Amino acid sequence: FGKLFIVPTPIGNLEDITLRAIRVLGEVDLIAAEDTRHSQKLLQHIDISTRLISLHDHNETQRAKQLIEKLHQGLNIALISDAGTPLISDPGYGLVNQCRANNVDVIPLPGPCAAITALSGAGLATDRFRFDGFLPAKQQAKIQALESIERETATCVFYESPRRIADTMQAVVDVLGGERKVVVAKELSKTFETFYSGTADEALEWLHADSNHQRGEFVLMVAGYKTDANEIPEEALKLLKLLMGELP
Ligand code: SAM
Repeated sequence: FGKLFIVPTPIGNLEDITLRAIRVLGEVDLIAAEDTRHSQKLLQHIDISTRLISLHDHNETQRAKQLIEKLHQGLNIALISDAGTPLISDPGYGLVNQCRANNVDVIPLPGPCAAITALSGAGLATDRFRFDGFLPAKQQAKIQALESIERETATCVFYESPRRIADTMQAVVDVLGGERKVVVAKELSKTFETFYSGTADEALEWLHADSNHQRGEFVLMVAGYKTDANEIPEEALKLLKLLMGELP
């Protein structure tokens, strides 16, 4: 059987492609890419002429079957996405899942990922973190998703689009409170890379202060919930209520 290589590509700065990624992309028989025209530019830049085939959200199931056949025939295939690590808020899960189910080796290469890059530079706790990808676009669902992390003690990491970042920050203020600490990482590895760190209230004000602040690509990080030392834990409260009910 051939092998499937998962190859991360730069998230903005072309220098971030690894030596191993360049070698693998040059050696494989076929590269499956989210957007072949977009990826062609990267491949030209690194002087690679390997044949490209599309694999995106809309054709993944059918394409995965075809690619598994090719892998069974002995072809080596690389999977790339438009930017960063495939499968991380990007296509590829169906293909990797099917490869594993069909005894095809999957070799993931380490490389650029916006979530990890943001987290490593934010100054928030990194011992435990939770990645939630994109929040739902619809207001009601977004609020519910934020409510579900209200008491999450790990740092929460989200991807967000420039169109929604201000609305999402408003939702963070509404649901988690304006005092919650957040970090907005924008345009990572690019010329206008920015980290804004402050309370959710301050971040909302910063986003509205200049329309440029809402342009670009964003990773939003929310500090984990901190239990107030004086606060009685919820379980203890429940127990207390029960006991009080038993009292004459
Ligand atoms: N697979 C990619 C990865 O490994 O990071 C993520 C793909 S997802 C479709 C695209 C989102 O990632 C963007 O909307 C943004 O939230 C985030 N992102 C990608 N590149 C970024 C960058 N240079 N700076 C900040 N966020 C970025």
